[in-house]
Amino acid sequence: MNMLEISKISKIYEGKVSCQALKLIDFIVPKGQFVGVMGPSGSGKTTLLNVVSTIDHPTTGAVVINGKEPHQLPSEQLAVFRRRELGFVFQDFNLLHTLTLRENIFLPLALDGVAVRKMNERLNAIAPILGITDILDKRTYEISGGQVQRAAIARAIIHEPVLVLADEPTGNLDIKSSRAVMELLRNINREMGATILTVTHDPTAASYCDRIIFIRDGSIYNEIYRGEQQNDFYGNIMEVLSFMGGDSRDFSTIRN
Ligand code: ADP
Ligand code: MG
Repeated sequence: MNMLEISKISKIYEGKVSCQALKLIDFIVPKGQFVGVMGPSGSGKTTLLNVVSTIDHPTTGAVVINGKEPHQLPSEQLAVFRRRELGFVFQDFNLLHTLTLRENIFLPLALDGVAVRKMNERLNAIAPILGITDILDKRTYEISGGQVQRAAIARAIIHEPVLVLADEPTGNLDIKSSRAVMELLRNINREMGATILTVTHDPTAASYCDRIIFIRDGSIYNEIYRGEQQNDFYGNIMEVLSFMGGDSRDFSTIRN
């Protein structure tokens, strides 16, 4: 079964100088696949994710998620669709500083009127997987970036979304936390069967995925699938990146 079908997506930003950020993008993601999107800065990765997540509208083309076309829904139904069927993880975590992690994680469920007992049940199931059981009553400024991102992942998956979307989820993390976050996403993918689409600059982070779609100048440049060995996949990713060119800084494995 296909979880995501993208057909002939284009996105033109109109302005003084109009900019075509996406050009006839086509791909299908089967249920349960863990897909990475890579490409140089400005290649259209965030635009693609925003169009898939319905934050933004495509200029042409269709997005089908779990058999539905969210862009065709009236705004109230679209809000419900987003809240129930999608999970978001952002580079800058996007948690509210005034709330505890638990309150942050419960927020989307609370908006949907889910009972507190049910929320606790779900959180008890995922907190140990994410390693956040002991810090649920802390606030973002009391814990590390890696821990905040793990809580953000909890918030993104607690409602059991059909599709998890992440834009540079490891972009603000050190190498160790970055690996931990990618391992978690892979666990969520394997154990909960979640379909995941994540943008990343980092080839090490990308090597946790099943498949990488490379985009350049708004078009699909190439795609590769992972075999048995993560190390081999890392090598293959590096090879495509070097052929694809672009700004070498974009693909640096050294983060600061
Ligand atoms: P990436 O995430 O791969 O760095 P983006 O999707 O952010 O790339 O941007 C793709 C292209 O679209 C870039 O040329 C960028 O300048 C342009 N762009 C992105 N957002 C907007 C916007 N809101 N208005 C106009 N142009 C935009
Ligand atoms: Mg981006």
